[in-house]
Amino acid sequence: MRTINRIRGVVLVGLALVAVMKEANAQQTEWPIHALDRPQPRKVDPGPAGSPVPAPSDAIVLFDGTDLSRWRASNGGPAGWKIENGYMEVVPGSGGIKTVDAFGDVQLHIEWASPTRIEGDGQDRGNSGVFLMERYEVQVLDSYNNPTYPDGQAGALYGRYPPLVNALRAPGEWQTYDIIFRAPRFDAAGKLLSPARFTVFHNNVLIHDAQELEGPTAHRSKPPYTAHPAQLPISLQDHASPVRFRNIWLRELNQRDEG
Ligand code: MG
Repeated sequence: MRTINRIRGVVLVGLALVAVMKEANAQQTEWPIHALDRPQPRKVDPGPAGSPVPAPSDAIVLFDGTDLSRWRASNGGPAGWKIENGYMEVVPGSGGIKTVDAFGDVQLHIEWASPTRIEGDGQDRGNSGVFLMERYEVQVLDSYNNPTYPDGQAGALYGRYPPLVNALRAPGEWQTYDIIFRAPRFDAAGKLLSPARFTVFHNNVLIHDAQELEGPTAHRSKPPYTAHPAQLPISLQDHASPVRFRNIWLRELNQRDEG
């Protein structure tokens, strides 16, 4: 009898342990950065590329295909990228570029194409990036047929959140990002009041739904917020790949209700 009771006790403790572990698993929302076993987003065919999307009447046109007057090199000099046939193209080694003006909350439209000539793999194929406030990156990558860590594929909030789905078109085809970005807010002492928030459409497919960030995006690290100005430039990355961009415009958004 005593033995049976002991066995029963062990079984009950075991069952309780399983329940606790299940609960802990369900609550695991934080993946290690660049985890390769994180689920790959499901592929969605967005349909064929269209013509450049016209800028609305209240938009600020950052690039209409003719000149880089609203851009400069991220290090402050003239922008070193080339312009051809209505698009700009990264000149590898020339450095990133950023807008002359600074912005906070925006609706940003940008079109990009990764090189037709496929070179490299993983993060070394058609890599660039759209950085809001120079610190929050929406990844640009040819991950059409190129597996990489989910939080680093095209449309990822780099190192933080994979896109909800993989809505890529083939390399060389024009792709669109429509990004609704809410800047983080800090109080006068530099304490975070509200985090950065992204809603993003890739080729008209929703890939982030009011996703809040726990801090800036980075390679192999998840840095915490540090207070910064309410408006900062938008920047585009030189990651040594001749990625093209065209038809870039934004609408400045009203301050959100801080409630
Ligand atoms: Mg990048």
